Amino acid sequence: MIPLSRGPVPASADAVIIGGGINGLTTAYELAKRGLKNVVVIEKNYIGSGSTGRCGGGIRQQWTTEENIRLAQESVAVYENMTTELGYQVFFRQGGYLMITESESDLPALRKAVTLQNQCDVPTEFLQPEECLKIVPDLDVSRLKGATLPHTDGTA
Ligand SMILES: Cc1cc2nc3c(=O)[nH]c(=O)nc-3n(C[C@H](O)[C@H](O)[C@H](O)COP(=O)(O)OP(=O)(O)OC[C@H]3O[C@@H](n4cnc5c(N)ncnc54)[C@H](O)[C@@H]3O)c2cc1C
Repeated sequence: MIPLSRGPVPASADAVIIGGGINGLTTAYELAKRGLKNVVVIEKNYIGSGSTGRCGGGIRQQWTTEENIRLAQESVAVYENMTTELGYQVFFRQGGYLMITESESDLPALRKAVTLQNQCDVPTEFLQPEECLKIVPDLDVSRLKGATLPHTDGTA
């Protein structure tokens, strides 16, 4: 466990991070893990007061560039281990993340993204509209053209 303290801004620090959202806090945490003893996070409001406290908590690897897919894969690996690493429950649930489209013209791009994700070992499947009902039984699929789902995506 990395020790935390709050209080007046110290006169010096090994690293100073402005903003206590997911990016600032993760940077501080990773620096501390790598041995920096004196990492300061300066937050003007309260921790998580920006986008981080408002987000849906969806963690998905369904991106359209290899760089973004691999970054998201790394995130999934971090989340898979986070409850053990932090010693408290972060409720990472890998229930999949269904992306749907009602537009026929989106389908080629969606299929191309699935191919790229599969090449990066993300197990994304392309689903026909009726197949989505197995996942979301009340979904109105009458206008759906297709959907994508990797079961390793989820929420935390
Ligand atoms: C409605 C909504 C839903 C979302 N859903 C998802 C989702 O499901 N999955 C997902 O991955 N992403 C989602 N996002 C995006 C995600 O929330 C953001 O990408 C992420 O939280 C950005 O984190 P951050 O640390 O960069 O910024 P923030 O969380 O905004 O943190 C920035 C912090 O800096 C502080 N700050 C700013 N200026 C100063 C200053 N001068 N001095 C001190 N402190 C300062 C702010 O008060 C704030 O706390 C969603 C976003 C929104 C708004």
